[in-house]
This record gives sequence, structure tokens and C-alpha cells, in this order.
Amino acid sequence: MARAFIGIGSNLGDRTANIADAVDRMNRLPRTRVVRQSSVIETEPVGVTDQPRFLNAAAELRTGLAPEELLDGLREIEDRLGRERRERWGPRTIDLDLLLFGDKVVQTDRLAVPHPRMCERAFVLDPLAEIARDVRHPTEGKTVGELLERLAEDR
Ligand code: ADP
Ligand code: MG
Repeated sequence: MARAFIGIGSNLGDRTANIADAVDRMNRLPRTRVVRQSSVIETEPVGVTDQPRFLNAAAELRTGLAPEELLDGLREIEDRLGRERRERWGPRTIDLDLLLFGDKVVQTDRLAVPHPRMCERAFVLDPLAEIARDVRHPTEGKTVGELLERLAEDR
């Protein structure tokens, strides 16, 4: 069983219900359990700023799935929750990003783990640090708590 961390975001519809629904569906993926969930924070949109505010959270999973299988599961949940893929970084009912998968480093056409932009995003690191402060990023060599401190210093 691997330990995986998921970044969750929503800025359309009933955002709180979307997040709860996504967590429930992740918990029902094959060979997968949600073992921890952060609190939910409200954040300003980054990148495309002319869109509603997000709710963000993070979850810890135990899974017997391979990273690519887990990605497929996450994408299916996004599709089920009515996400339409229009613009990158645009509004969405649910966004599920695979942030960390144990110590694994994956770099394929469709999957990059650790998630390449997680270290620069407070809306990812803030909730993640709540449940994974001492977890080490396999290529940065820093813990999530240290990454968050570095981000705060850079701002
Ligand atoms: P973003 O989350 O950056 O706004 P999208 O959710 O629209 O962008 O992008 C999803 C695509 O990113 C998926 O098609 C997936 O194949 C790819 N992807 C690559 N690495 C990851 C990852 N670690 N977690 C989630 N999706 C990923
Ligand atoms: Mg995404």
C-alpha cells in the first residue's frame, strides 16, 4: 500500500458539497482509503484571476493502485462531478491533483509526480502541511513544512 496525497479544489456550484462528494468517491476507489483530510480554506484564484474564489483542501490516501491507475480514478471522479474541460486553470466544479505518491517520481506524457507546481502554490501547501508537515518531497529534499516556510520567505 502506498501513501498518496491529493490536492482538491473547487470554484463552481456548491463548492463544499463538491469537495465532500469527491472525498467520498476517492474513498470508494478500488483498493483505496481516504485516511486523513485537511480543513477547507478559501483562496483567491491564481493564473486566471477573473473567476470565482476557490475552496481548497488536501487528503491522504492509502492505495494499492499504481500512480497511473490512481490518476485515471481521479479523472473519472472529475468527469462524474460534471467538470467540463474548457480552459486550463479556469473555473471547475472539482480539480483533483495527485501531489505526492510515496517517494515515487513519475514523468510521463499524462502524469508528473510530484506535482510540478505544488511547491509554488500556497493554496496547495497550506492544507497539505496540515496533514503532512513532516512528509519529505522526494526531489526537493525538503519537508512540506519546510517548503511552506520557503514559499513564505519568497513572498
Ligand atoms: P490544472 O490542475 O493544472 O489546472 P488540469 O486539471 O486541467 O490542470 O490538468 C489535468 C491534466 O494534467 C490531466 O489530463 C493529467 O493527465 C495531467 N497531469 C499531469 N500530472 C498530474 C498530476 N500529478 N495530477 C493530476 N493531473 C496531472
Ligand atoms: Mg488538475
